[in-house]
Amino acid sequence: MELTCSEAIVLASMDFRESDRIVTLFTLEHGKVRGVAKGAKRSARRFGPALEPFARIRVEMVVREGLSSVRGADVVTLYPGIRGDLYAIGLAGYAVELTDRYLPDGAPAPRLYRLLTAYLERLDAGETAASDRRFFEANFLNILGYRISLDQCASCGVDIPPEGSRRVGGGGAVLCAGCGRHGITLGAEAAALLGRCLETGRFGTVHFSPPALREAGALLDSAIAVHLTRPLNSIAFLKQIEPD
Ligand SMILES: [Zn+2]
Repeated sequence: MELTCSEAIVLASMDFRESDRIVTLFTLEHGKVRGVAKGAKRSARRFGPALEPFARIRVEMVVREGLSSVRGADVVTLYPGIRGDLYAIGLAGYAVELTDRYLPDGAPAPRLYRLLTAYLERLDAGETAASDRRFFEANFLNILGYRISLDQCASCGVDIPPEGSRRVGGGGAVLCAGCGRHGITLGAEAAALLGRCLETGRFGTVHFSPPALREAGALLDSAIAVHLTRPLNSIAFLKQIEPD
């Protein structure tokens, strides 16, 4: 079995047996990999703090189907700016849990890797704006093939002009006014800003107003939940610590 070296973000980590840890890593080269780090609870020398959630690391491992073997890891960054801010911790925890739950095992996803690391860097710099979270989510869904269609009704297929009325349907669908009579309204501003999120790859370039944030948030929450079999643990935590 071949020892490989890869860059990775730690998505999840848990104690296993007396002295081991099981980690879920999003590696740049191999996509999502689950592995056992033998002796990680005892050997601070080999692993140090490198297996903490959302740490960015260089990892040495033998990749196998099922559980890989993690042989060693060095910290690239622990994102210290995140770890000193409870709300940033909540958002980073949410981003890695969402990635863990959506990403299939073993498929490289370099664009998603870049999006996740860009978001963590943003949080590390003290930027915890809700607009950035929605920017991350819109691009996250897009990269994974779940792009939200803003210009066409998901039910009847009619084209919706930029200034047209939209409603949020079930499962994150955007409906025309005729098909979605009772859903939350998605205003022209929110629709335009969501479109902008998908045009630019840079955080900090799209700012939602409070009403547009509520509307876009309702659409994205619903679009994300439809692909999950159970709610994310990090969402409950985020709700508790969210600033008003
Ligand atoms: Zn329609």
